Amino acid sequence: MAGGETGTVRLRRGRERALLGGHPWVLSGAVAGVAGDPAPGDLVRVEDSGGVFLAWGHFSPASRIIVRVLERSPAASIDGDWWAARLGESVARRSGADPGGGEASRLVFSEADFLPGLVVDRYADHLALQLHTPGAERMRAVTLARLRGLLSPAGIVDRSDDAHRAREGLEPVAGAGAGPPPGPVRIREDGLAFDVPLASGQKTGHYLDQRLNRAAVALWAGGRRVLDVFCYTGAFAVHAARGGAASLTLVDSSAEALAAAGAHLELNGLGSVPCERHRGNAFEVLRSLRDAGRAYDLVVLDPPALAPTRAQASKAARAYKDANLLALKLLSPGGILATFSCSGGVDPSFFREILRWAAADAGRGVQLLQVLGQPPDHPVRLGFPESEYLKGLVCRAP
Ligand code: SAH
Repeated sequence: MAGGETGTVRLRRGRERALLGGHPWVLSGAVAGVAGDPAPGDLVRVEDSGGVFLAWGHFSPASRIIVRVLERSPAASIDGDWWAARLGESVARRSGADPGGGEASRLVFSEADFLPGLVVDRYADHLALQLHTPGAERMRAVTLARLRGLLSPAGIVDRSDDAHRAREGLEPVAGAGAGPPPGPVRIREDGLAFDVPLASGQKTGHYLDQRLNRAAVALWAGGRRVLDVFCYTGAFAVHAARGGAASLTLVDSSAEALAAAGAHLELNGLGSVPCERHRGNAFEVLRSLRDAGRAYDLVVLDPPALAPTRAQASKAARAYKDANLLALKLLSPGGILATFSCSGGVDPSFFREILRWAAADAGRGVQLLQVLGQPPDHPVRLGFPESEYLKGLVCRAP
């Protein structure tokens, strides 16, 4: 028996296939009818067109994703204790083996950790939390209590203020889950120090998902002129500087982020590496650098998600191609391009195809040297392709 289910979502004929294949979403278009008048965040029973049980899930009527699956066992009892137990398992999976995690890593990655709508990041002795769905929101108190019990954090910051919530019919929430919001929290990533603005930074303050990729890219930095495009607070640049970069050129639209990047170089004793900072639209900055005849030996291109969903992919493809084309034009002979896409809507093969278009337009033969992805604390759940969102390609343009 599931504890407290309030309604039943019946699928259209044949629309159970994705669920049976392991996908954890029910899309509204697959639904034949909803019985029992469930409210947002309620536990519902999902059944096929013939009434056969498929799963228990959280209901979200305002969303295109009308149910997020929690459990496939009909006998399971799904209540606060169930959620708290899953949360404990997710945290326990991280203990011990977390390459490069250091003091900052993701403890819960939503559906990929079997806790739909919940993201928890650890920054030293602080936690940052995101509740993306009405179901996860309903579990707020249970989540906070369990996190406190498990980890005794100095503070928990709520960063439920991104675009996901609006798609779920939820208001943005940001603030301290426990105590006043902290100032920047200092973390170490691969031995380098960063001051993370938990309460005000992008995402939950730091791009944790690029942690291992920064170390991989820094291997190419020795003696090279490095261009870090979409640098945010300079994490790639700091790694590259430690890796022996000859010079750094940083590009971002955020003045705050660029200032933080400069501070991070100083903080790590790397302030003597020659460094130029350009604030502005990266596409325009890259064009002006090209027009000025500049050249770089290592370019890092890490744009924001230009296509969060598949529907936006073809429009975003053009922007990705333009950015990569400009980067290739700025690359010296034998230069290295480390290019990323964190768009869920652009799958790995499409991303590679976009890079091929850019290489063809740039008139350069491009060799793929290394394929990068997500670190193990951002697992990809098989059967749920949306969880594989971060793609990276390290290339050489001879
Ligand atoms: N590489 C960074 C993360 C990049 S996130 C890291 O490792 O930490 C994307 C960054 O792109 C953000 O800092 C954002 O401010 C910036 N940005 C978004 N749109 C931009 C644009 N059109 N031009 C320049 N920067 C942009």
